[in-house]
Amino acid sequence: MTHSRTIVKMSFSHETMEGAGVRLNRAFGYHEIPAFDPFLMLDDFRADRPNDYLAGFPWHPHRGIETVTYMLEGTVEHGDSMGHVGSVDAGGVQWMTAGSGIIHQEMPKPVDGQMGGFQLWVNLPGDHKMMDPRYQEITADNIPAVTIPGGVDIRVICGTIAGVSGPVHDIMAGPEYLDVSLKPDAQFSHPVKPGYMAAVYVIGGSGRFDQQHKEELVNRTIALFGNDGDSVNVQAGGNGVRFLFFSGKPLREPIAWRGPIVMNTQEELQQAFADYENDTFIKKTS
Ligand code: FE
Repeated sequence: MTHSRTIVKMSFSHETMEGAGVRLNRAFGYHEIPAFDPFLMLDDFRADRPNDYLAGFPWHPHRGIETVTYMLEGTVEHGDSMGHVGSVDAGGVQWMTAGSGIIHQEMPKPVDGQMGGFQLWVNLPGDHKMMDPRYQEITADNIPAVTIPGGVDIRVICGTIAGVSGPVHDIMAGPEYLDVSLKPDAQFSHPVKPGYMAAVYVIGGSGRFDQQHKEELVNRTIALFGNDGDSVNVQAGGNGVRFLFFSGKPLREPIAWRGPIVMNTQEELQQAFADYENDTFIKKTS
């Protein structure tokens, strides 16, 4: 017998400007900490107008976190201070562990006139904030798609569904990150470990994620579940529903956050910005 988790926090993503003038929708961020711990932020940069995103995210530093870029359409061209160059294309993911420091740029570009994706920030625990930077870059055809009878299709970025594990591994927060599509009126139940946070972000259609809520959640709704059950249960609406599901083990550590850098203490934050000013930000040159 499983108990469904109930929704404890729910809202629409809100429009904000980031980078060099990118108009995007933020599902949660600085103002919500620590509700989504171990996650810090989720940005939705699906956009129809190139002027909303072409300015992109020119050179900026990160330390103490991981940034996870998942693209539905278009591409993000990427380059960093260590000479790493590439792109995240439709259906692919880049799981970047900034660790001790990466300075990079991320430039969204349309393909066939379309561009859209999401960036999730995952916090690093204090004893890993200064780890060596690394990338896990997965193209669309290397993200397994699992079909569950009854109208459920899942792309497994990180975590395990029906014995199929996603390609992203060895992440400190033990996260799951799934792109779940339900056909009209289909149902989906997914276990969540005790004490782990779990949330969904709806990206298409509508559905009910909590029996207590009569209303269906729609596109651009973020919902955080409480710790009051061992599964998340979804009932798709008449047009089906598509959502990002993510869960992870809360770090429960102090958060000192300024812009693209997230540490545990103000001293560490000041050190990071001093390093950036003094050109000693990058700790690893290989
Ligand atoms: Fe960045």
